[in-house]
Amino acid sequence: MKKHNFYAGPSILPQYTIENTAKAIINFAGMDLSLMEISHRSKQFVAVMDEAVQLFKELLKIPEGYSVVFVGGGASTQFAMVPFNLMKKKSAYLNTGAWSKKAIKEAKAFGEVDVVASSEDTTFNYIPKGYKIPKDADYFHITTNNTIYGTEIKHDIDSPIPLVADMSSDIFSRPIDISKYAIIYGGAQKNLAPAGVTFAIVRNDILGQVEHHIPTMLNYQTHIDKDSMFNTPPVVPVYAALQTLQWLKAQGGIEKMHEKNLHKAGLLYDEIDRNPMFKGTVIDKEDRSLMNICFIMNDGFEDKEKAFFEFATARNMVGIKGHRSVGGFRASTYNALPVESVEALVKAMQDFEEENK
Ligand SMILES: *Cc1c(COP(=O)(O)O)cnc(C)c1O
Repeated sequence: MKKHNFYAGPSILPQYTIENTAKAIINFAGMDLSLMEISHRSKQFVAVMDEAVQLFKELLKIPEGYSVVFVGGGASTQFAMVPFNLMKKKSAYLNTGAWSKKAIKEAKAFGEVDVVASSEDTTFNYIPKGYKIPKDADYFHITTNNTIYGTEIKHDIDSPIPLVADMSSDIFSRPIDISKYAIIYGGAQKNLAPAGVTFAIVRNDILGQVEHHIPTMLNYQTHIDKDSMFNTPPVVPVYAALQTLQWLKAQGGIEKMHEKNLHKAGLLYDEIDRNPMFKGTVIDKEDRSLMNICFIMNDGFEDKEKAFFEFATARNMVGIKGHRSVGGFRASTYNALPVESVEALVKAMQDFEEENK
């Protein structure tokens, strides 16, 4: 029986992606060679890269004037790459979790960092609001989905200065108005592909404004100018990303995916709120993530945590342990997770309640 895969990252991918990538590793594009043993400059692989970029633009409705690049180094390298490319003197950051903090730490090496608001005082269980974005900063950085804490900025905010977003764990989960952002980046291993490739969507006119030298590999312009082929790209993850994008299109695109995600998350949050044995860690519904759903045992049932974990494990569920900084449980409900898996978890929570009444 297939597992119900709730891992936070790396995480569930469409079966279409896994099977097609496995086939291409054996025999790529009818070449009788593996995807792993041919030149990335072969016309067959260049076609993969081109189609991946084209589908990124099509699915996300990326307007003219933006480039899509695939690079290595994970989202964590973007934490430094963003200030390296954009920061002249000062930047602004919203501190909504462990990934935001890491981004802030890197930015501090490049100049003044104004942390406009933070929810660290309550283990990041809400998204701060009513903050002021300083007009004299070079850009404002947000983490749209906080994978560890289960909070999400689910709408495109207005910023008077260029907006930069880490969308590692919610890209392709909902429609985005790309025109509100200067840069969007993310590691692929949450909703797109295996680890090893990072995407960046860059508004071309934001680049070229800093005076310091940017190392070649850390300069977005390098990768834009060479169509992500300046050096050898991670061919297997890029191929897998293309499969996921094709799958996404066949599913009806991002609007359809968003509907499914709202439905899946709704089922689980409703059960968390209904079931007296559990409670959500994020109280404000507006802030609740559609991708990472965190919950703990309710007051009086704290000693049942291990028992529920074992109960769910016996029903083929994997990856539901919460991050060590939050505890309890975290069910990640990425695009590829079927609604049946969410229904199975809801049923497990109901049956567990019944048994422990
Ligand atoms: C997983 C994650 C990262 C880190 O990504 P790496 O590719 O491992 O560097 C950064 N930001 C967010 C929001 C994440 O979920």
